[in-house]
Amino acid sequence: MVNFVEANTRQVQIFAKSETQFFYKFLHFIATSVRERRLNGDRGRAYIKEMLHVILFYGQINLPIIKPEEILTENFQTFLQKYPDVFQECKTHLPTRPPYTVLLDAIVEIKGTRNAEDVLRCLLDLTDKMDVTNDEGKQCGNVLVSTVISCCNFNDVTTNYFGASVSCMGWKQRKAMINILCCKTWHKDISWAVCVGNTYNEKAFTFPAGVCSMAFNIYSSAKATEQKQRIERAKARLQRFQMIRSRNIANILEPFGTLVPREPCKYCFIMFPDICFDPSSHSHNAGKWEYGNCAECESLSQLLYSDENIVQRLKRETFTKTPEVLLNEKYNQLKEYLEKLNFNFGNRILYYNNQA
Ligand SMILES: [Zn+2]
Repeated sequence: MVNFVEANTRQVQIFAKSETQFFYKFLHFIATSVRERRLNGDRGRAYIKEMLHVILFYGQINLPIIKPEEILTENFQTFLQKYPDVFQECKTHLPTRPPYTVLLDAIVEIKGTRNAEDVLRCLLDLTDKMDVTNDEGKQCGNVLVSTVISCCNFNDVTTNYFGASVSCMGWKQRKAMINILCCKTWHKDISWAVCVGNTYNEKAFTFPAGVCSMAFNIYSSAKATEQKQRIERAKARLQRFQMIRSRNIANILEPFGTLVPREPCKYCFIMFPDICFDPSSHSHNAGKWEYGNCAECESLSQLLYSDENIVQRLKRETFTKTPEVLLNEKYNQLKEYLEKLNFNFGNRILYYNNQA
């Protein structure tokens, strides 16, 4: 029992450190971009508020709660005075996306490009700076960094939409976040595909031909060291597939950490079987995660938001339960998980507005 408590305490400490490190590195990235005029001040402020809110919210739904003053180790009072709404609403309002997704979105805006190499290089560089140190002084990865990144495009390899797998500590928190993404954030057709996957283990619709998707495992230096052997095995496998495009990206990014191309999992393949996945294979991993956890949901959702033409060309299937019924089930699940996490959302669920 003592060991369990100690291990749990250590995990909570790593999580709190991850939150602190993630927030301050993000803050530095945004502040530098504003100073160098690559991002305007209002956008910078909106990003900082959104990130601060989701980080503090994650602290609130952790068991035990991690208080804002434990996360903000520098200038706590300054933040409190500057963004009082964030400190109030992290206890009552939900975020709309996980921290790593906010970071990815900020990079695309700041870099002003949808070129996969440019965006992923910057992401990997920042990810590398987010490693934390455990109580034995050993470098380890950051809990808020996603395991998988994906990008997709429609007949144009220079215009990519990016996504990250859902990163959270704890399975209840992860389920709550997937439900938030389904109920509030993702394009309604992607939310529906996730619901249909969950309920029927089938696809909800067929994409028009020309949608391509690549996915990568992302490793910071510390993570890469930890998992070096696994990466070597994945690379050997990749070379057999001769996926030239993916390999070039992986090689270019090598000095900072590593991106290793990965195949879609079984769930993505069930939901989106007609997409051109790179790399692809005939066997698909049945992950320990659930429908909606994957990076592909976020990137494909962004693709649909960007192009109404693709939405119009989706060939939808019909099911006994309508999309409204399925989404309502997700909404009720979200409320249940928030209750389990002792998060007091009041009479109805509200989302934090970083533009206010
Ligand atoms: Zn997947």
